[in-house]
Amino acid sequence: MTMFSRRQALAASVLLPAAAAFLPRKAVAEASAPAMLGAASASFNRFKLGGFEVTTLLAGSSAAEAPQGVFGLNATPEEFAALSTENFIPTDRVQFFFNPTVVNTGAELVLFDTGLSAEGTLAALTAAGYTADMVTTVVLTHMHGDHIGGLMGADGVTPTFTNARYVTGAVEHNHWSGAGDAGFDAAVRPLNDKMSFLDDGGSPMSGITAMAAFGHTPGHMVYQVESEGQRLMITADTANHYVWSLQKPDWEVVFDSDKAGAAAARRAVFGQIAADRIPFIGYHMPFPGLGYVEAQDDGFRYVPVAYQMMLCRRVQ
Ligand SMILES: [Zn+2]
Repeated sequence: MTMFSRRQALAASVLLPAAAAFLPRKAVAEASAPAMLGAASASFNRFKLGGFEVTTLLAGSSAAEAPQGVFGLNATPEEFAALSTENFIPTDRVQFFFNPTVVNTGAELVLFDTGLSAEGTLAALTAAGYTADMVTTVVLTHMHGDHIGGLMGADGVTPTFTNARYVTGAVEHNHWSGAGDAGFDAAVRPLNDKMSFLDDGGSPMSGITAMAAFGHTPGHMVYQVESEGQRLMITADTANHYVWSLQKPDWEVVFDSDKAGAAAARRAVFGQIAADRIPFIGYHMPFPGLGYVEAQDDGFRYVPVAYQMMLCRRVQ
């Protein structure tokens, strides 16, 4: 047994918390080392829009390499690098976000797009305080896998949103009905009996209006949400990157089925949003996917929402 002088014992009690002084050295190290938890983000963001509540869900996120294989196909590597550097983002990697939106109108709970899988979307939906059976209407902006992927559960045949009706664009649905697409045939076709179809200017319910933004897919649509004079646009995949697609609307995107049509839709939709100075939610924008745009040079400057949407809410 080691003998301490009274002075040494006093020094030890000052340097170490009382409990730790009696633990083995290894246990002290484990108890005091904070664990590394990895990068993280909240999975939902909610704000008021007039009498509505709007919640964006982070249903998933993934990184990819070689982003110029996706964006700026018709730009030179030098142009791509210069714009990226100017905006403080890397040229060799990109982070994708998947942001379905929930709108509570007070009468209906409307889900815009369903994520890559039911699992990811339900995790965020639950965190936001909702359950799948509360969803009364599912709106599909278009039929790509990252938007229809949550329609069916893990078994691929059981609908996730058991009490919902479905709304989508007529042109979009017609296209994929004849396309022989396995994803559409498995996830959307079985729901046809519960589905209704919109054209440009159509309205799935009071306060929500569809707008044609064809190009990303043949019948891709965006939605205006309006309550008590406050407006918001859900722009889906009109622009899929806040720098490369907004600052350079004519930069071609590999996922756009009609490159020129998609560029024209970007100019039309974001030109209107810029002119009206209203916020928008972009499905693939950095979470929570909420921002404004201002016309700048040959495109648009993205301004992420800061606290503008929280001004009516007191946070304890
Ligand atoms: Zn998408």
